[in-house]
Amino acid sequence: MNNSNMYLEIARIVEAGPERIALETGTDGKLRYGELDAEVARYANALCESGLQRGDRVAVQVGKSVQSLLVYLACLRAGLVYLPLNTAYRSAELDYFLRDAEPGLILVEPEQRAAMEALSNASIGAAVMTAGEEGAVSLAQRAAACSNRFSTAISEPGDLAVIIYTSGTTGRSKGAMVTHDNLVSNARALTQEWQFTREDVLLHALPIFHVHGLFVANHCALTTGARLLWHDRFDASDVVRDLARSTVLMGVPTYYVRLLGQRELSRETCGNMRLFISGSAPLLAETHQAFEQRTGHRILERYGMSEAGMITSNPYRGERRAGTVGFPLPGVEVRVVDAADKPVPTGDKGAIQIRGRNVFSGYWRMPEKTREEFTADGWFRTGDIGTFDADGYLSIVGRAKDLIITGGYNVYPKEIEQVIDELPGVLESAVIGVPHADFGEAVTAVVVAAAGAQIDTAATIEALKKKLAAYKVPKSIYVVEALPRNAMGKVQKNVLRERLGQ
Ligand code: AMP
Repeated sequence: MNNSNMYLEIARIVEAGPERIALETGTDGKLRYGELDAEVARYANALCESGLQRGDRVAVQVGKSVQSLLVYLACLRAGLVYLPLNTAYRSAELDYFLRDAEPGLILVEPEQRAAMEALSNASIGAAVMTAGEEGAVSLAQRAAACSNRFSTAISEPGDLAVIIYTSGTTGRSKGAMVTHDNLVSNARALTQEWQFTREDVLLHALPIFHVHGLFVANHCALTTGARLLWHDRFDASDVVRDLARSTVLMGVPTYYVRLLGQRELSRETCGNMRLFISGSAPLLAETHQAFEQRTGHRILERYGMSEAGMITSNPYRGERRAGTVGFPLPGVEVRVVDAADKPVPTGDKGAIQIRGRNVFSGYWRMPEKTREEFTADGWFRTGDIGTFDADGYLSIVGRAKDLIITGGYNVYPKEIEQVIDELPGVLESAVIGVPHADFGEAVTAVVVAAAGAQIDTAATIEALKKKLAAYKVPKSIYVVEALPRNAMGKVQKNVLRERLGQ
C-alpha cells in the first residue's frame, strides 16, 4: 500500500546521506540527518508509549527550540496530529482549544505545567508533560530512554497531520485540518519552484507555531537534504551575522524592515545568499526597493495561509514584481470571482478561491462552517480579495472582512493605503472602516510618520482629495508611533477597529 506519511519525504533524505548535517544552532552545534532521525524515533516511541494512538492530538505550547522541531517530526512519523499553540495564548483561549481539540497529551514549558494541569483537569483531563528536563513528566527524559528506531506509521492521503487554529479575529477560532497529503504536495511544489538543493543553508528565524516556519521552512530544507541554520528567535543583528554562511532566508515583512535597520546589511554580507523570501503579510513596495538597493537582491514574495499552505509565488527565474504575490504554484488553481462565484475579467477585483492537493480538508468539528467555505465544485473561499493583472500576476487587495462599505460604495483599504504611503513623510498606513451614523462605515486612516517627519492630518486629507474619489478619502486620520502587529507581522486591524470604533 502507498504510504503518504509526510515524514517519508525526510526519511528518504536520511537514507541517502545520514552523515550530512541537517541542522546547526549557534550554541549546541550540529545534528546530522542520521542523528535527527534517531532522535525523532525516540520521541515517537515516547509519545506512543504514553498511550497515544494514531489520530490522537498532541497540543504543544512551547517556545521555539530544536526539541520542539523533533516533537513535530515525531508526531508526523507516529501518525499523531500535531497541534501547535502560540505561546502568547492565555488561559481563556487555551481552555477553548483544549475542549475543542481534546488532545490526548499537552506539552508545555516547565513553568506552565501547574497552570496547564489545572486547566486540563477542569476540562478534558489530558496528561500534561513538559518540554524541559523535569523528572517523570519530561518528554525529553522519557525519549532519551527509548529506542532510536521507529517504523513510520502508514498514512492514507486523507489522514490528518496537523491542526492549526486560525487567528480568529472575529468569532470562534477554527481548527484547520491539514493532511499528510497537503504537506507532501506543497513541499514538493515549493522545493521545485524555489530550486532547493542539498547545498542550501536555510536561515530559520521564524516561529514554528505557524505554517510559514513550521511547514515552509522546515520542509523545504529537510526534504531536499539542505541544512537548517536554526535561530530560536529573530534578532536582526544575529541574522545579518549569519547571512554570510546561509543561502536562503524566509521572513515576514517586518524582518526585512528590521534588517534594513542594520548598518551591516550590504551586498557583501549577502554575498553567499541566493534567495530572500517574504510572506504572511504584504511587503511594502518601498521595502522591496530599499532591500534591492542595499543588497542587490529582489525579495521573492509569496502568498499562503494555514488552510492551504502556499498558494502563489513570484517566479524564481523571471520578474519578481513588487506588490504582487506572483503566479499559482504547480498543482494549485486560483481564480478571482464575483459574489455569484463567477470569474471576473482580468484586472477586476474579486474574491480569491483556490483548489488543489494543498487545500486542507476542513475545519475541525465545524462541518457547517466547512460547507460554507467551499463551493459545490470544491473551490475554497480564502476570504482574501485580489486581482490578476494581464501578465497573470496576482495581487492581494485585502481581506473580505476588511472591505469598507461607506454610503453604499465599496472601498478596498489597500488602494487607499498605497496612495497614502506615497505621500511625503509617510512611512506606512492602515485603513479601516469605523461605524458611522450616516455612511454606515467611515473610511479612517491610521498613519505612521517616516523618521523625523511630521504629519499634518488636515493637509494630508487635502492631498488625498486630489488623488482619490471623494467617497474614498478618509474622513479622519490618526497618527500613531507604530501599527499593532501580530507575531507574523500582520497588521491587527481588529485592534485598530476596537481602539477607534468607540
Ligand atoms: P495565516 O493563515 O495566519 O497564515 O494567514 C493567511 C493570510 O495572510 C492570508 O489569507 C492573507 O490574507 C495573508 N497573507 C499571506 N501572505 C500574504 C502576502 N504575501 N501578501 C498579503 N497578504 C498575505
